[in-house]
Amino acid sequence: MNDFINVIGAGLAGCEASWQIAKRGIKVKLYEMKPVSFSPAHHLDTFAELVCSNSFRSDQLENAVGLLKEEMRLLDSLIIKCADETRVPAGGALAVDREKFSKLVTDCIKANDNIEIVTEEVTDIPKEGITVVASGPLTSELLSESIGQLIGEQYLHFFDAAAPIVTFESIDMTKAFRAARYDRGTKDYINCPMTKEEYENFWNELTNAQLADVKDFEKEVVFEGCMPVETMAKRGIDTLRFGPLKPVGLIDPALGKEAYAVVQLRQDNEEGTLYNMVGFQTRLKWPEQKRVLRMIPGLENAEFVRYGVMHRNTFLNSPKLINSDYSLIKSPNIYFAGQITGVEGYVESASSGMLAGINSAMDFLGKERITFPKITAIGALSNYISDKNIKNFQPMNVNFGLMDSLNAKIKDKRKRYYEISMRSLEFIKSEIKGCF
Ligand SMILES: Cc1cc2nc3c(=O)[nH]c(=O)nc-3n(C[C@H](O)[C@H](O)[C@H](O)COP(=O)(O)OP(=O)(O)OC[C@H]3O[C@@H](n4cnc5c(N)ncnc54)[C@H](O)[C@@H]3O)c2cc1C
Repeated sequence: MNDFINVIGAGLAGCEASWQIAKRGIKVKLYEMKPVSFSPAHHLDTFAELVCSNSFRSDQLENAVGLLKEEMRLLDSLIIKCADETRVPAGGALAVDREKFSKLVTDCIKANDNIEIVTEEVTDIPKEGITVVASGPLTSELLSESIGQLIGEQYLHFFDAAAPIVTFESIDMTKAFRAARYDRGTKDYINCPMTKEEYENFWNELTNAQLADVKDFEKEVVFEGCMPVETMAKRGIDTLRFGPLKPVGLIDPALGKEAYAVVQLRQDNEEGTLYNMVGFQTRLKWPEQKRVLRMIPGLENAEFVRYGVMHRNTFLNSPKLINSDYSLIKSPNIYFAGQITGVEGYVESASSGMLAGINSAMDFLGKERITFPKITAIGALSNYISDKNIKNFQPMNVNFGLMDSLNAKIKDKRKRYYEISMRSLEFIKSEIKGCF
């Protein structure tokens, strides 16, 4: 048995995990390949680098990522503390000066006597002792191979091509209808019918909408697996009508016949609170997705809990592999944390680092692991990535659709979300905070 815990990767998850372990009096060996070797998106020498936006998104309790941050504040998160200390004005969001943020995290980690920094690229997961793997969405090639060998190649994905996800309650069911194609099977899909005019307007906006920048390293992989909906649309005005928007076999009850085109949505979680837009993997900029996709009848007020993305992203098929405390089912002394587990986003990555750090420390101390229920945002995410009912696993941002709903019915959405947040914070204060 080692007298320390290994953490691989000093990104958002790895730094948070190391901090949580070290504050419990345990030695950490934190391996980071920078500045000897850089992923294609990392450039700074310092830790916890924000590779794109400088925003940690909403800081309001009516927003799930705002709640997640507040939970992490209660649990003494290094990442959120450093973000709070380096914040720049951004309205209701928490945005930071990225260089100051990264430097502050690095200084805190380096000043901690329990943390030893090892500057090298890890190519194999240590067999001895407890390890937290937090090497991120751009895990180096050799380490990816070693992870593939450990878990089975088929469970490791290298590319994220995801369609947008909307909340069920934001779909206008007076326009959309449930049906199975040719009436075969149960009516599992929600269908949004379009007239010829609606379809042509939509096609026009879709094919002219602004695309997100593609990083050089992503160019070769972007078109391999599945095609972005806007690329398919550009092939011709009817291509989508013969592809993902084909109306055949779907009788619109309002018309008593097939519509001109139909957008289909498939249930995305067990509770039926989230729906996935079938075939809509896209590289459109996020505000453009909101603008163009809200042109679809029934989706005029759609609430997007996740936008479509197409980028390189190393992640595990976690529901088959990971427990809700982020340990590996087949080798519980190995934890995974961060984007590699299929949580999406800076705060979400740090939150999984927090839970993996706390629980690896509990293991080390011979104490019982802590699990968070789905009334907390931190627990909703860890339960999502380990949910054995999920068949087609895709990375996910935190959102209220993943959390247990309230017993009381509150119509006003902001009030309801606020109450869900208060329930979680009270639970953490009374049931969790003093426990470890
Ligand atoms: C191009 C891109 C843009 C993104 N933009 C955003 C955004 O704007 N907003 C947002 O919320 N999320 C964004 N994400 C998603 C995600 O939240 C971030 O990638 C986040 O940094 C993930 O945190 P992490 O700790 O899992 O990984 P990282 O922060 O990437 O940390 C992983 C660390 O591990 C190190 N490492 C890798 N392999 C090895 C090895 N073999 N040995 C030792 N060290 C290793 C890396 O150098 C890195 O420091 C983006 C992702 C990508 C790929």
